[in-house]
Amino acid sequence: MKHMLRKCGHCKIYTLDEKCTNCNNPTLDPHPPKFSMDDKYVRYRVREKHE
Ligand SMILES: [Zn+2]
Repeated sequence: MKHMLRKCGHCKIYTLDEKCTNCNNPTLDPHPPKFSMDDKYVRYRVREKHE
């Protein structure tokens, strides 16, 4: 049984389908880019502190 949460990069919504039910684009597995997401947050945090 597949139970993977996926994300549409266009609509930025989460879905269980391989295609977005909203725009019909293929959805992405949000797990691999987890590190780059964390990196973004860290960069924002650093910027906030800097300002
Ligand atoms: Zn979409």
